[in-house]
Amino acid sequence: MPRRLAQLDRIPVSELRGIGAERARALAEHLGVETVLDLLTHYPRRYIDRTHQARIRDLKLGEEAMVLARVERVNSRRTRGRPPRVLVTVDVSDGTGRLRLQFFNQAWRAKQLTPGTEAVFFGKLDNFRGQRQLTNPVVDLVGDRTGRVVPVYPQSDKARIHTWDLGRWISEALDRSGEFADPVPGWVLDRFDLVDRTAAFRGIHRPATPEEHKEARRRLVLDELLRLQLALVERKRHLERTTPGITHGKPGPLVERFLARLPFELTGDQRQAIDEIAGDLAKPYPMHRLLQGDVGSGKTIVGVAALLVAVEGGHQGAFMAPTEVLAEQHAQGIRPLLEGMVVGDSGATLFEDRPLRVELLTNRVGATERRRILGELAVGQVDLLIGTHALIQEQVEFASLGVVVIDEQHRFGVEQRAALRDKAGGEAVPDVLVMTATPIPRTAAMTVYGDLDVTVIRSRPAGRQPITTRWARSAEDEAELWAAVRREVELGRQAYVVCPLIEESDRLEARSAEDTYARLDAGELAGLRLGLLHGRLGGADKDETMHQFRSGRLDVLVATTVIEVGVDVPNATVMVILDADRFGIAQLHQLRGRVGRGSERSWCYLVSQTDTPDAEARLRALVTSDDGFDLAEVDLELRGEGTIMGERQKGRNDLKLASLRRDHEWVERAREVAMVIVDGDGGLAAHPGLVDEVGLFLDQDEQDFLLKG
Ligand code: ADP
Ligand code: MG
Repeated sequence: MPRRLAQLDRIPVSELRGIGAERARALAEHLGVETVLDLLTHYPRRYIDRTHQARIRDLKLGEEAMVLARVERVNSRRTRGRPPRVLVTVDVSDGTGRLRLQFFNQAWRAKQLTPGTEAVFFGKLDNFRGQRQLTNPVVDLVGDRTGRVVPVYPQSDKARIHTWDLGRWISEALDRSGEFADPVPGWVLDRFDLVDRTAAFRGIHRPATPEEHKEARRRLVLDELLRLQLALVERKRHLERTTPGITHGKPGPLVERFLARLPFELTGDQRQAIDEIAGDLAKPYPMHRLLQGDVGSGKTIVGVAALLVAVEGGHQGAFMAPTEVLAEQHAQGIRPLLEGMVVGDSGATLFEDRPLRVELLTNRVGATERRRILGELAVGQVDLLIGTHALIQEQVEFASLGVVVIDEQHRFGVEQRAALRDKAGGEAVPDVLVMTATPIPRTAAMTVYGDLDVTVIRSRPAGRQPITTRWARSAEDEAELWAAVRREVELGRQAYVVCPLIEESDRLEARSAEDTYARLDAGELAGLRLGLLHGRLGGADKDETMHQFRSGRLDVLVATTVIEVGVDVPNATVMVILDADRFGIAQLHQLRGRVGRGSERSWCYLVSQTDTPDAEARLRALVTSDDGFDLAEVDLELRGEGTIMGERQKGRNDLKLASLRRDHEWVERAREVAMVIVDGDGGLAAHPGLVDEVGLFLDQDEQDFLLKG
């Protein structure tokens, strides 16, 4: 009988030769390996290809080197400094030359590498005080293995579990496992030219050639991603089946009139986004779609069109922004676009013809007014309600909420959706469109928010002025940038100065903003009209300052990141970000998006003297690209996927080999295959082997929900 992974997951590693109780405990504690399945999915970190072995004499500085050599001398000592470290120095030779190896904090090397021992050493050749050496090289004891391609496993120095121990146990596990069952349908393997499971496990651990482990990896990557996508697609379909939605009509005269009245042509991407959304709205289950588009790409229009589809069918729409200021701004922007429109005249509703009603509900609305709005909302006399994200959680009752648009929040999570469902109270659940200008790469969205559909607006409206981004590194650069601010102000334009980010304390951050303000006011920007904005100011003060800036009575706004999201002052043409290296890529891009919104050319200055490679890479990315999607890819590259995976990474998520960056095309393929399987005859249940495995790699909660629910 071919082995199923679930069976291997029930066999403790102590069944293997050489693993007693103590080793088993160490494996569990230090490497998280408890079962034979854990061991078989403890994949090599890298491989040493012994055909590339070199002679010591031929090694070049700075290059990776692999030599077979014999230990001549070993020395072990403690270094001074804090904390003291153990340094083992080993001199080796291969007959063509000598080499020194340095091992830090690996005291046991002194016992392993006794004089006379032969081993393969692998590392980068460096030069320390004239001595050629390898620091902390990978060691492979000769005689342990016969293959040419040797796997190197993540090991635990602390637990004294070494790569060759792991290799030995894994070999035994492979031999005793025999054939592996393969639950993935044959057509998938054919289509993507993949090897079977048995070959994959053997190839990843004991490849005869480098090609073999690459093929094995492809197969196992697909397996990991497919399990995840099956779970996500199954959940998506489950939600669709069990959540009653509103079947909206196709966009009719109201939407058409709205679009026709716009003073510009829609971009192709906007039009396509509206089509996709209209398609979702016409389905009997609720839409849950993410609309990603850079700052200024024109998402608002798309959102409003979606809301109007609801209104056209006699339902209501809600537009929610992250802050009150932004809600007000949206109300100001949206109202004129809907001026004079009439509902009911399409004949599709029971209403009599009447003007379309848009209301703004924030904390600043007085009690009487608030009561009036809520009353009218409850009986369906208000068509569109604009407010903050808090709207859906509050005691706001709609007559028939049809579509919800949530601006600038891609983490519209499970709880908020649950809140919406509660609001619907067993009735049809409204459709949800989430909009964000902080794109996450598509594959990451597919993985992290797998039950979400994603639409991307990539093109920008024609005639946009470019933003020139400069990195001010030196004192001269800085002097130049303040001169540029003065020049722009003289031309009648405005500037932002963003103060250093201090995440730990908004008190310190406010203080630093005050200091910056005082410094600029007395120095570089003396004589200009400066305003100060930070999170510790009262609401009224903030509003007043914002108002003054917007109306042109301030030249420069010195601010913390409170201006990050959505603020729109087209006359502002310069953005200066101090200590820019403290910000992440997405945040810098957001901040930069505050300028370049008018008809004038704009500048962004990133002030930083950093020389850490990471910060440098971030700032360079900003200078070279103004495309949020490119930047999101760079960000993923730099930060790794852990940050994006966040919550999902907990529990028993099994993306051990797959990387959302390197394997992005496999994410798409896995999603496609998952959809074919879940939507096919009999659904996922028709593939018991896959059900079994999906369950194996999911949290208990998720399993209950998915497989039994
Ligand atoms: P964002 O995607 O950042 O929310 P907005 O929806 O606020 O962008 O749009 C930014 C500006 O571009 C607004 O003034 C809007 O009226 C304008 N706009 C939107 N679509 C177009 C278009 N197709 N052509 C020209 N201007 C447009
Ligand atoms: Mg917007």
